[in-house]
Amino acid sequence: MKNIKIDLLSDTVTLPPKEMREVMASAEVGDDVYHEDPNVNKLQEIAARKVGKEDALFVPSGTMGNLIAILTHCRKSDEVIISPMAHIYDNTISGMSALAGVQPYTMIHEDENGMIPKEIEKWVQKPEDLHYANTKLICLANPRNHAGGTVVSVERIDEICKIAKKNNVFVHLDGARIFNAAIALKVDVKEIVKNVDSVMFCISKGLSAPVGSILAGTKGFINIANKHRKMLGGGMRQAGILAVAGIFALNNMVDRLEEDHRNARLLAMGLSKIKGIDIDLDSVQTNMVYFEVTKLINNLGISIEQFFDELASHGIRGSQEDPANLNKIRFVTHYGISEEDIYTTINAIKMISKRIN
Ligand SMILES: *Cc1c(COP(=O)(O)O)cnc(C)c1O
Repeated sequence: MKNIKIDLLSDTVTLPPKEMREVMASAEVGDDVYHEDPNVNKLQEIAARKVGKEDALFVPSGTMGNLIAILTHCRKSDEVIISPMAHIYDNTISGMSALAGVQPYTMIHEDENGMIPKEIEKWVQKPEDLHYANTKLICLANPRNHAGGTVVSVERIDEICKIAKKNNVFVHLDGARIFNAAIALKVDVKEIVKNVDSVMFCISKGLSAPVGSILAGTKGFINIANKHRKMLGGGMRQAGILAVAGIFALNNMVDRLEEDHRNARLLAMGLSKIKGIDIDLDSVQTNMVYFEVTKLINNLGISIEQFFDELASHGIRGSQEDPANLNKIRFVTHYGISEEDIYTTINAIKMISKRIN
């Protein structure tokens, strides 16, 4: 975006580092639909190993990866237990219903650690009845993007997986930013996903690759997932050019996510000291900062649109993620946002709040 110097819209705006572009330019390639692209094969092996699963599949996007997981675990008319705040539910234009033909059962019982196991158990243990859909899958998310980017504990995931296993229900984890979760939880990513049947993560977000996500699971699962990827038009031919970016990302861009978390905390601390801003510091656990500016804009007598315009005049951009509360702003830190940018942002908002130009 022109004139935007500090782009806190999302970590999807990250640009590939120079070295990543260099490996892309010289990548050896083949036709991946015939499994003949050496770098796609290598990325899938590295990715599977990284999350401790048997096999993995390179997919064009996280949205497609999650949809493939649902298509692979479920049949039409099955039911999927999911949080109404989950990306798969609230950010995919009803894809699970429209394209996989499944019915979401929105689990509204949540605490700061995600869906409540006891409530899931009550639902999956309901007596068999002619009228009921077949509950086949539980979709978890970690971190929980629309819950502030907060993380779900390993214990909570394990508890839900145990209930699922006992009741013949699969568990898929939307781990778009799973490495952010691992860093925040201070555990290896394998520990988070060890009991889930499948996991999706994005290389296109904080890991800074230009395109792509990974879906991982058992060999049998990935075989069928590959068919679904083809069905959806996700077979990508000489995709090694993209896959090498993913390999570079997994080898070089994971550990630095810690810096984004540090910057997010710094930003949150600074914002919390500005009059008129409401922020829950405990919710700042990864690279996302959610805060509300209702009082601030009311004090200034400006609309939220005008507030965003003022931010833009300082070269700063954020987003509104809650359609029911447009005064709630999200800032996401990422590769390309420095500590200095954080101080610049805090100062700019201070100036806006004090009407200093
Ligand atoms: C970004 C995101 C996705 C989808 O990934 P795309 O590559 O944008 O399709 C899925 N889940 C979560 C939690 C995300 O943040």
